[in-house]
Amino acid sequence: MHRPRRWHVTRWHEDPYSGGAYASLLPGGQIGHRLLLAEPLDGQLILAGEAYHSHPGMTHSAWESGNCAARHALEGGARRVLVIGAGLAGLAAARALVASGATVQVLEARERIGGRTHSIELGGIHADAGAAWLQQYDRNGLARLAEQLGLATVATDFSRPLAAAHDGPVPDIDEAYARFLRHVDRSLPLEQAVRGHAATLSPAERRALGFALDGNLILEAGLPLSRLSMAALEEEGVGNGDRYLPGGYRQLVDHLAQGLDIRLGHEVRRIERSASGVRVDGIAADCCICTVPIGALGRIDFLPDLPGRYREALSYLAMGQVEKVILQFEERWWPVSPSGYLRWYDEPANWGEWLDLTEGVGSPTIAGLIAADAVEREFRGRTDEEIAHSAAYQLQRWAERVKSYG
Ligand SMILES: Cc1cc2nc3c(=O)[nH]c(=O)nc-3n(C[C@H](O)[C@H](O)[C@H](O)COP(=O)(O)OP(=O)(O)OC[C@H]3O[C@@H](n4cnc5c(N)ncnc54)[C@H](O)[C@@H]3O)c2cc1C
Repeated sequence: MHRPRRWHVTRWHEDPYSGGAYASLLPGGQIGHRLLLAEPLDGQLILAGEAYHSHPGMTHSAWESGNCAARHALEGGARRVLVIGAGLAGLAAARALVASGATVQVLEARERIGGRTHSIELGGIHADAGAAWLQQYDRNGLARLAEQLGLATVATDFSRPLAAAHDGPVPDIDEAYARFLRHVDRSLPLEQAVRGHAATLSPAERRALGFALDGNLILEAGLPLSRLSMAALEEEGVGNGDRYLPGGYRQLVDHLAQGLDIRLGHEVRRIERSASGVRVDGIAADCCICTVPIGALGRIDFLPDLPGRYREALSYLAMGQVEKVILQFEERWWPVSPSGYLRWYDEPANWGEWLDLTEGVGSPTIAGLIAADAVEREFRGRTDEEIAHSAAYQLQRWAERVKSYG
């Protein structure tokens, strides 16, 4: 057994300030629910962040959502604005407001900025425990910023993973998924529709469909089929041309935070709206932009409460669970994927996708991702060390399979 020398295991699902990875749509949920929540409330409170964007779950959506919230605040005449959260949505909003002459304070619960981007140090290198890729690269404002700053980036070709399956050759996953998208009955709840489609397939096709759903949908959305909306099929995830930052997302985040008034270690508990303005934990302002992830919103008292239509829209969103392990070894013992990207199809699913960081960071390092109910299976009652070793074991099973293909 190859044992990692160092590791980092994320626990976003246990983190009170995130409650998971990103907001996915529950059964019945529609993109419209996300967009409704981004509408300003009485000009005093604006929700912003990845959850309220038509392309959710990504850093540049959070960034765009923050910019949009700042525009709404300025259009409403706000001059003193409190921004809750120093993730990408909060940093975007604060920068845009300051650039327009508003007085802005950012209140951040953690003792660090960046939110669900978090670059950690491991054996002298930087690796991202949260977001890693700049997705939808060609239309990604943060990618343009990374280019302007001259940051190194490495492309990942998701269409060419070095893949292995626990029980034989890897089937044509893309074809199985494309066929599913073509034939699935979108009038049914997702899980039922999947069962209906699977019933029309041969055993080999069903096997391919199972892997395709694990890899292309559940790993992206972070929720099991029974908890996902049919509309989740339309929400884009990783794509070809995405690039990661070997120096870490912190390079972007630190740049964006420059010159802003950010109070760390301030967990907001209360947002009060009245005719005279808004008060956040007693601090008065014209407007508050709240970028708290939906998984942490329940810790805040809204007075008066959010209107019924907002509460209803929120009830269609839940935090998807995606966790990461970053493993560092003495040497790279696993087969090299030309694209840097690996897929592992197991039953039940576990560490299903991997990004080999070795070339990018200059040390034998690899990051694995796990999602949805597999998180519960792998994490419950285990220490980080146990999880890291279990992930390394799955990587080894993957490697043995790849070698068996010859
Ligand atoms: C494991 C993982 C992998 C991912 N991979 C990618 C990827 O490769 N590419 C990509 O584009 N996206 C990825 N994402 C998603 C991306 O990280 C998020 O969409 C994005 O960072 C969200 O930004 P945000 O500003 O909306 O929220 P956040 O970054 O969560 O910022 C919200 C801030 O609010 C603070 N906060 C919470 N509660 C309070 C409170 N009560 N008072 C004050 N402050 C509070 C939090 O501490 C946080 O700093 C990934 C996420 C995870 C977890």
